[in-house]
Amino acid sequence: MARFVYADNAATTPVSPAVFEAMKPYFTSIYGNPSSLYSVGRDAKRPLELARGEVAACLGAEPSEIFFTSGGSEADNWAIKGAAHVQAKKGKKHIITSKFEHHAVLHTCASLEKEGFSVTYLDVHEDGLVRPEELEAAIREDTALITIMYANNEIGTIQPIPEIGAICKQHGVLFHTDAVQAVGNVPIDVKAQNIDLLSLSAHKFHGPKGVGALYVRRGVQLPNLIDGGAQERGRRAGTENVAGIVGLSTALKEACATMEERAKRLTAMRDRLVDGVLQIERSRLNGDHIKRLPGNVNFCFEGIEGESLLLLLDLNGICGSSGSACTSGSLDPSHVLLSIGLPHEIAHGSLRLSFSDQNTEEDVDYILEVLPGIVERLRAMSPLWDEIIHGKKYN
Ligand SMILES: *Cc1c(COP(=O)(O)O)cnc(C)c1O
Repeated sequence: MARFVYADNAATTPVSPAVFEAMKPYFTSIYGNPSSLYSVGRDAKRPLELARGEVAACLGAEPSEIFFTSGGSEADNWAIKGAAHVQAKKGKKHIITSKFEHHAVLHTCASLEKEGFSVTYLDVHEDGLVRPEELEAAIREDTALITIMYANNEIGTIQPIPEIGAICKQHGVLFHTDAVQAVGNVPIDVKAQNIDLLSLSAHKFHGPKGVGALYVRRGVQLPNLIDGGAQERGRRAGTENVAGIVGLSTALKEACATMEERAKRLTAMRDRLVDGVLQIERSRLNGDHIKRLPGNVNFCFEGIEGESLLLLLDLNGICGSSGSACTSGSLDPSHVLLSIGLPHEIAHGSLRLSFSDQNTEEDVDYILEVLPGIVERLRAMSPLWDEIIHGKKYN
């Protein structure tokens, strides 16, 4: 029987056993409303403030700069729309982002465009990186905000965040980064990197789904996201997701404590996988080989469809992805792969494999054992491949 290999950790991760244990009491015995004054309420409030402190410590922030949200998408929306609206009052209505952001950023920018903001979408180069000098050249008098993701969710490339932060600071422009893929995987220091706003999401680092956070540097003005009670210092009302927040902070603390060692192990696994997979003819690794997340690889195989590849991998017990989870199901190739200059035909044949600390060397062995045969089988049935090897296309 086939092994089971979960290699789609960029889409979501399983909650770790320690995180699950830490959350459990907040569903059963410590069920009070954190705003209540009796002890079962106070007992539910204390962990919220501890969690805020732990999240802040992992990012080099102050606890008062951390606001819990329902996830990464909410944090992105709050940061971008909120900052844009505040800046608009000062006559600044221009935003700079990149072409390969997550849809939580791209669609938020599109919605601001409908309100009359203008948005510059920076090109991403073939290596999957934006160029700081192009970003700097795009800054205008009326630039309100720059939002550039820390690490890309599809191809795993890590952007030059410290350089971008320094440019933003020098020009007095607010800097937001969607760090959902990076937090817990790469060292982040919001102060040293001049980050004003940063989004994160628990389910990408073995925490639960439906909880995230926004870091807001002290002094940065943002309108309230949800009006109501005094939760999150009145900025985002609603009874707190206590269990979720405890899960988030437990997972993040664990991820930060094990980051260095895990990065070493996953990088070695990743590089062995890349070397093995690139033995397949007419395959390529998308994005820079080195400036990428330890556990993320994204390949293209000419002449095949990513969807068929995923189905056959699934039959063999391997979970991967093609394009992002939000766009799979549509026939459009990923906007990320198109942004780095891949032609449509090639972008269609993509495969993302993403590892977490729960993956092993045996998983890599198993993928390398079955993947080449699957690619070969699909190519044998592909009219496109026939054309390719007869030299009619892409020479
Ligand atoms: C997963 C992801 C999001 C969305 O986070 P949710 O918590 O699922 O809303 C945003 N940005 C990036 C880069 C992501 O990978």
